[in-house]
Amino acid sequence: MTYTITEKADLTHLNTLGLPVIASRLIEVFSLSGLITLSEEGFFRKENPFILGGGSNILLKRDLKRPVLKISITGIRVAEENDEDILIETGAGENWHKLVAWAVERNYGGIENLALIPGTVGAAPIQNIGAYGVELEQVFESLQCYDFLNDTEKTFRREECGFGYRDSIFKRELKHRFIITYVTLRLKKKNHIPNTSYHALAAYLEEKNVINPNVGDVFDAVVAIRRSKLPDPELLGNAGSFFKNPVVDKSIHQRISKDYPEVPAYPAAFGQVKIPAGWLIEKAGWKGRKVGNVGTYENQALVIVNHGGATGEEIYNHAMRIKESVKNMFGVELVPEVNVVE
Ligand SMILES: Cc1cc2nc3c(=O)[nH]c(=O)nc-3n(C[C@H](O)[C@H](O)[C@H](O)COP(=O)(O)OP(=O)(O)OC[C@H]3O[C@@H](n4cnc5c(N)ncnc54)[C@H](O)[C@@H]3O)c2cc1C
Repeated sequence: MTYTITEKADLTHLNTLGLPVIASRLIEVFSLSGLITLSEEGFFRKENPFILGGGSNILLKRDLKRPVLKISITGIRVAEENDEDILIETGAGENWHKLVAWAVERNYGGIENLALIPGTVGAAPIQNIGAYGVELEQVFESLQCYDFLNDTEKTFRREECGFGYRDSIFKRELKHRFIITYVTLRLKKKNHIPNTSYHALAAYLEEKNVINPNVGDVFDAVVAIRRSKLPDPELLGNAGSFFKNPVVDKSIHQRISKDYPEVPAYPAAFGQVKIPAGWLIEKAGWKGRKVGNVGTYENQALVIVNHGGATGEEIYNHAMRIKESVKNMFGVELVPEVNVVE
């Protein structure tokens, strides 16, 4: 079976915000040959599908008239290895955390800090996923994708992906242009130095008396910290951080710090600084606040949650109200990290 089709598909369990959206058609593709067959049948000439992974970084505003193409290509294989490095090629539909656990079990270093990020491997390069001091681009080797306009396969190496903070060329110039089918990562078999630079991670390891953490120690620590801080989408619908942390000129940070000397800032590229969006949202009074069926998570103001029965429009409007009040209070423009699907 290369693909399946469901007419009038309910996507409630296919998006982590738990929004009860109906797609005119859901096509689940299990292999590259499934994509090629669809192409031969003229699908991509007639339709403009929405590409779906695990649905953990999307806000579906309303029912979708266009078909949804869910990428469920699986498989984890060793593509190449030497004494020090190993190249792992993974199907786009594999669960990201499953890949991290697979690597940690084998003591391959590089992605242990990215444990428990929901979603699929194929979506990981789209926003260059990152957490606890590590970003995907640090281990990314290449990806394969299917160019459905020209019916060809294409490979992108790291330098061609335009990676940035929660950003890549696939979110900008090449948005909705390619279907990612396989991702290859370069992990460390030997001489891996775990990255424990992130404050919360270092503090956790110190508290647990872990002196020289290995890949497994870092993985366990990240899993424990994340479980204590972030809501489980199975229990409380959410899409993780709703906004990106704004990167601003130092002068803006200085202006804010006149009224709020405690405003945090982290160094960013080009002499700019990154201010935690969660801090701005909390100061604007939104932390833990509930409006109708929608709210902001009580332990982390950056996470918008569905308390049950919310619609995509309600979530979107809530996010826009937060954005507006942060703009009014601090003169800083928040940009959604979540992909808003019209
Ligand atoms: C509780 C929680 C915590 C999170 N924590 C983090 C975190 O720490 N760091 C972080 O970076 N992110 C985090 N996220 C966001 C999210 O997990 C990631 O962005 C993840 O990579 C999204 O994967 P997905 O498969 O769910 O993508 P989806 O939500 O299905 O899709 C996201 C975008 O990618 C496109 N897409 C998906 N698959 C493909 C494909 N195969 N080919 C082409 N386009 C595709 C979609 O069209 C869409 O535009 C979190 C989310 C949640 C719910």
